[in-house]
Amino acid sequence: MGAVWAVVVAAGSGTRFGGPKQYELVHGRAVLDWSLLAARAACDGVVAVVPPADLGRRPLPASRPPDAVVAGGGTRSASVRNGLDAVPADAEIVVVHDAARPLAGPELWRAAIAAVRAGADAAICAVPVTDTVKRVEGVDVVATIDRSSLVAIQTPQAFRAGALRDAHAGAGEATDDAALVEAAGGRVVVVPGSPINLKITHPYDLVVAAALLTFLGAP
Ligand code: C5P
Repeated sequence: MGAVWAVVVAAGSGTRFGGPKQYELVHGRAVLDWSLLAARAACDGVVAVVPPADLGRRPLPASRPPDAVVAGGGTRSASVRNGLDAVPADAEIVVVHDAARPLAGPELWRAAIAAVRAGADAAICAVPVTDTVKRVEGVDVVATIDRSSLVAIQTPQAFRAGALRDAHAGAGEATDDAALVEAAGGRVVVVPGSPINLKITHPYDLVVAAALLTFLGAP
């Protein structure tokens, strides 16, 4: 079996959060470090993508450092491309993960990787939508969407390396990488995500994440 590499993107500026959330401590560890440790546990190699100004300045987990640290780009997709450039050419599978999701458990990583090994071009973590979803124009509701076939998408997202490289070759922009593979005609499947796998977006998410890590008995 070919090697599995992770690209952990942490080069956002944290506009909604109000600062660089990837270095905030949660349950004794930086948000980015939780994500790098999860990547290290599931993959053979790990690339961390950090803001250009932080290259070599911010300490990364000393015990299990990433194999490469590269500078991010102006958008999430550009940051993924920079990370992908540091993945060895012979990698079979590449898993892209948002550093902002420090609670992605090993079962999510395993399920996504296994589904790509089973033949999908991409396998992405999904959770059912539990809220009612409506389309609005300004304050006016124009439609209520049938949520029975809707899912919310998380990372990690695993890809056949060639499919991910091809999808990014056109330098496209999307909020996740699977969208680029979909646009290129690839087969994208879902695997179970988790409601615990929250994305640190607002400062109060750190409080929730810390409580969840305590609940889960994390060291
Ligand atoms: O902005 P958003 O919340 O979608 O970011 C998701 C992930 O992408 C975060 O982990 C963030 O650090 C990363 N990102 C990046 N480079 C950017 C923008 C976002 O690595 N230019």
